[in-house]
Amino acid sequence: MRLYNTLTRQKEQFIPIKPDEVGFYVCGPTVYNHIHIGNARTFISFDVIRRYFEYLGYQVNFIQNITDVDDKIINRAAEEGITPDAVAKKYTEAFIQAMQTLGVKPPSQQPRATEELAAMISIIKHLVDNGHAYVVDGDVYFAVRSYADYGALSGRNIDQLKSGARVEVDERKSDALDFALWKAAKPGEPAWDSPWGPGRPGWHIECSAMSQRYLGESFDIHGGGEDLIFPHHENEIAQSKAAGNGFARYWLHGGMLTINEEKMSKSVGNFLLLKDVLNQVRPQALRLLMLQSHYRSPFDYSPMRLDEAESALIRVENALRNLDWAANAEPAFTTEDLGQANQLHQQLQITDQRFTEQMDDDFNTAGAVAAIYQLISDANTSISSGLAGPAHAQAASDTAAVIRRLLGVLGIDLVEASIELPAGIIALANELTGFAGDNLDKAAADLLALRAFARSTQDWQTADAIREGLSALGLGIEDTANGMRLFLTDRQS
Ligand SMILES: [Zn+2]
Repeated sequence: MRLYNTLTRQKEQFIPIKPDEVGFYVCGPTVYNHIHIGNARTFISFDVIRRYFEYLGYQVNFIQNITDVDDKIINRAAEEGITPDAVAKKYTEAFIQAMQTLGVKPPSQQPRATEELAAMISIIKHLVDNGHAYVVDGDVYFAVRSYADYGALSGRNIDQLKSGARVEVDERKSDALDFALWKAAKPGEPAWDSPWGPGRPGWHIECSAMSQRYLGESFDIHGGGEDLIFPHHENEIAQSKAAGNGFARYWLHGGMLTINEEKMSKSVGNFLLLKDVLNQVRPQALRLLMLQSHYRSPFDYSPMRLDEAESALIRVENALRNLDWAANAEPAFTTEDLGQANQLHQQLQITDQRFTEQMDDDFNTAGAVAAIYQLISDANTSISSGLAGPAHAQAASDTAAVIRRLLGVLGIDLVEASIELPAGIIALANELTGFAGDNLDKAAADLLALRAFARSTQDWQTADAIREGLSALGLGIEDTANGMRLFLTDRQS
């Protein structure tokens, strides 16, 4: 398996520190609001990468922090008129709920910054003792120039950075680039005791401390959105390495999300929260859409693409319904063409191989999804040929299993694929066949029986009326070797 390492700017062979194990750290949310759709993309990407390692048989220790103390949380508390602690609790719960809805697996451990102060203070103390950090009025700063490799991850040079406008000016710091490891408490702010007086940790030190605590001084993969490369990840590396740790070997970064080709920002007014998007689309469809792009590529979101995603998901569901149906069909007569069943079986092996090749190439989910779509297309062709018999039933059952297994690696779990008949079918049957009753299946059977009769007597008008009526309800009719059956069309509901 090869993965792109931001640190070396190339694809590298993945070699884990311990055979068959992966230590994996992904920066979690700062819980001051509901997450936006760009965050959701990052967390979906890393969920799929984790799932793929597990699929290959690795034991993955997946750690994601929750930043539950931060300026943004304190500001939000003032806005909402509640305590910072209450803000953090509220949005932590919302985050965990959102991840569950999206089908993102829970981390092996999900440490919270406010519960990990001891680990942070221990590293900061070490950095003060070995001269990489200094104390000013209860604040502790990391001395960026004391760490020679600063800038290696982001490819920036210290002197260019210094002239950059983004660096905050604080005269108490020895160098404008130095960043806070510990912030002395201001009145009314949450504070914890430390050797430097009451205060709270800086954001960057959290991840250095929590990754070390749960994954050890050296671990395999550190991930996050591309926007975290600088300064967050650069600072994490500086702190951890200056404290004598090996830290992460591979750095993976997810590409950014734009909306209608514009950067998402509050000032542009296109800031889109995940919860609002999930009012419009099923989570599985959103995953399918996002995974059609490589995780490092930019991803452009638009409402039109949501519709496409929903249609794509319906196509997948219909294919599975058709396969389940073919797998369980009891053929009225047998027209076995073993060649075709064998061909579908061969296609399964090819699909598995393609899927793995694509995922082994820096988790190319776009190629992996394409491999599944190709199999679906082949399966549809095979099923609509109308052939039947035990070999076909077996091929259909095996194909459905492969599709479900591969979708599972992408975290797309589809519920049982039986047709839910629309309630309108009762009225239609009543109108066209005189059906009286409230059983949906019986109403459907009546309509199909009448259509079969109408066709046998060349009463095309009745046959067409039934087809059109069903079509208006989102149902299609298929004539197969096993008789007629209904299927859900790709129509948007
Ligand atoms: Zn982090």
